[in-house]
Amino acid sequence: MLSNRYKYMQQIRNIAIIAHVDHGKTTLVDQMLIQAGTFRTNETLIERVMDSNDLEKERGITILSKNASIRYNDTKINIIDTPGHSDFGGEVERVLKMVDGVLLVVDAFEGAMPQTRFVLKKALALDIKPLVVINKIDRNDARIHGVEEEVLSLFLELGANDEQFDFPVIYASAKEGHASLIADIEGENFKPLFDAIIKHIPSPGKDENGPFQMLVSSLAYDDYIGRIAIGRIERGAVQVNKPVIVLNKTVGSRVEKIKGAYVMQGLKRLETQDAKAGDIVMLTGIADIGIGDTICDFDNPEALDFVDIDEPTISMGFIVNNSPFAGKEGRFVTSRHLRERLFREVETNVSLKVEETQSPDSFNVSGRGELHLSILIETMRREGYEFQVSKPEVIYKRIEGELHEPFEDLYIDVKESAVGIVIEKLGARKAELIQMQPPENSFVKLLFKIPSRCLIGYRSEFMTDTKGEGIMNHIFAGYDSFKGDITTRNRGSLVAFETGEATSYGLYNSQERGRLFISPGTKVYKGMIIGENSRGDDMVINPCKKKHVTNIRASGSDDSLKLSPPVVMSLEQSLEFIAFDEYVEVTPKNIRLRKKNLDNDSRMKESNKAKRAGNG
Ligand code: GDP
Repeated sequence: MLSNRYKYMQQIRNIAIIAHVDHGKTTLVDQMLIQAGTFRTNETLIERVMDSNDLEKERGITILSKNASIRYNDTKINIIDTPGHSDFGGEVERVLKMVDGVLLVVDAFEGAMPQTRFVLKKALALDIKPLVVINKIDRNDARIHGVEEEVLSLFLELGANDEQFDFPVIYASAKEGHASLIADIEGENFKPLFDAIIKHIPSPGKDENGPFQMLVSSLAYDDYIGRIAIGRIERGAVQVNKPVIVLNKTVGSRVEKIKGAYVMQGLKRLETQDAKAGDIVMLTGIADIGIGDTICDFDNPEALDFVDIDEPTISMGFIVNNSPFAGKEGRFVTSRHLRERLFREVETNVSLKVEETQSPDSFNVSGRGELHLSILIETMRREGYEFQVSKPEVIYKRIEGELHEPFEDLYIDVKESAVGIVIEKLGARKAELIQMQPPENSFVKLLFKIPSRCLIGYRSEFMTDTKGEGIMNHIFAGYDSFKGDITTRNRGSLVAFETGEATSYGLYNSQERGRLFISPGTKVYKGMIIGENSRGDDMVINPCKKKHVTNIRASGSDDSLKLSPPVVMSLEQSLEFIAFDEYVEVTPKNIRLRKKNLDNDSRMKESNKAKRAGNG
């Protein structure tokens, strides 16, 4: 039975789990919790324990880092989840600094995937001991040896040292609950996995008797206990209700008091008086504590090194909604709301930067990539915020007088038949083909290096060109010399002529102009973008047009009008689509696209001019 008081464990192992989405991380952790006997028999296990955030599930990646802990014999194993995407580089590194080993979970059929590469590379660079779990060996199509070879070459490529290269491999089925050290002999339970963790992953080996010192690596909130500082104790033991010194790089030092200390047991937070060096703890009571702060013994204020957080590579404007539909759908709509929310975000989302602009209604928000920002937008939208965002732009840098821009490594896996078009399209986007592997099962793996800005908007093109069968993944590769200008979008927007409700008739007449984003009944406003023009300029059209009564007999009833299904634009697609003179309007209920300047007259003139030129 679990007791409510935490029992101090002498032995500790701190591990992080790295896995591509769907390779079985959650199932593996569930199974570890079950088999280590953490759950009472009458306690039901909540499925998918690690990935609790809805948004993460939808996007198939892990964003936040969560903790769990199991007891195996005399050892406590702290398990930390790592964010799966390279956009969260800062977070990855901070998490990895708390552990001495990583479990790399790889699907026995799919093999190692590019997303895990980034985190693994960081782990290897930090000299962390890897342990490879080839999972799903029960699959009929499992190709255990092939996958093992792939993992070996990945380690080689990522510069693993001799000791890391000699990694132990565990062959497991998380679903069936067995693990084994020998590929061809199925295990009975998870004991081989637990034993391998204890044997191969070093204990933290920290000084328990010295003065207290802890680096804050992550933050959490709790309605009852307030802000929670999470980190691994570097030295000594936590002393609750005694003065400590908090060291902050910019603010300097101050005296504070820790009100409560907690550790994980299973998935629960338990209060403790005994947390000592090496353990991962959660401390409460320090209101303004931040990531990167060191909490130390009152008489020994010594700061711990903090890995500099990766700088943002992409930025966009967050602007108070001023569309004609503003304020109708959101709960938080004012510039004060927007400001507070954005600055609150910066407190826990350290790779994010928020800057004021000359206008109180507009903020410049920079992040680690499109995904980093789009997740923030989506989160705010779900919380009830309403605002507009401008087109994401990459952040340039001047290095020794020369213009530099961010680049991505782009990994592509496509049918042989699509290789030509992919190379051609990416060539036009200034991508450089770095590697091309011989086809395997008629699929070819390609690696490109491409300026981040040239990749914006490519995904949907890629999906069309590969008939939905291609896989593309990209990872930030660093800054390099500017590659020169390109044009990414060569089509204009279809813009609504007036405010009203779209009709079948209006849309029927509009659809020959290009691809439409809306269906009949959608409320539109003058200047709203309702589709993509099949030509390069913007065109003003009237989706709300009603049939003249005299026309009825001529064209039959509305029902007979055949409308192509609209292209429903996701948030990411919308961000990719918009041009520099356009916004995405985001509300809890809708995502709309609009021209910044809602006045159609200038566009009308342009498009009339084009018509007169004979091609209208
Ligand atoms: P995560 O996204 O890495 O957390 O992956 P999940 O743990 O959610 O697993 C993804 C899918 O793979 C689920 O449908 C699991 O049931 C399945 N799965 C996980 N482990 C195994 C396994 O060992 N064998 C098989 N056949 N399926 C598994």
